Amino acid sequence: MSSASQPENQPVAPAFRVERSAVHGNGVFAQRDIAPGERIVEYGGREITWEEAQLRAEVQGGPHNHTFFFSLANGNVIDGGDHGNEARYINHSCEPNCEAIEEEDGRIFIYALHDIRQDEELSYSYPLIYEGRHTPAIKRAFACRCGAARCSGTMLAPKPRKRKPKPLTPDAPAVPAAYGPGLAAAQSPQPAAPG
Ligand SMILES: [Zn+2]
Repeated sequence: MSSASQPENQPVAPAFRVERSAVHGNGVFAQRDIAPGERIVEYGGREITWEEAQLRAEVQGGPHNHTFFFSLANGNVIDGGDHGNEARYINHSCEPNCEAIEEEDGRIFIYALHDIRQDEELSYSYPLIYEGRHTPAIKRAFACRCGAARCSGTMLAPKPRKRKPKPLTPDAPAVPAAYGPGLAAAQSPQPAAPG
């Protein structure tokens, strides 16, 4: 419990607004200048288990609409599409001006990495963890169009080094092969700063 809360009678002007983005769908833009290190917004949404996240992705036919999942250190996922807020519209960039940090209490906040000018689009580097096969279709679905000079061309995190693959049981339900064992693509936050 923190006692350092803001006075309730002092409304703080929102630092951002949501509108169409040239990068992808909706984006979030600075409504005013934002200082480095400023906490801009919480990544809102319901905390669900990884299993539940897989189910939700499956119901929606794959990972494509689920760049709203945010994985937590405790193994759960925040679904920004379920009771989420504007933060879910912040686009990925390979040269971001924000970062997402998981606090010790398991909440995720978006912080400014450096000076952000009014009307600049906010972005952070996701990267998306997707355990299924990185097929051409998946790569297309998660192509990065951030326009940065050093754009990696993808929002997908590199797959971790191969461990011995666990053989799939032959009578497993008919999941599209492209999706493999992990249907959900989840963002992973930066580790919380120590202390
Ligand atoms: Zn990029």
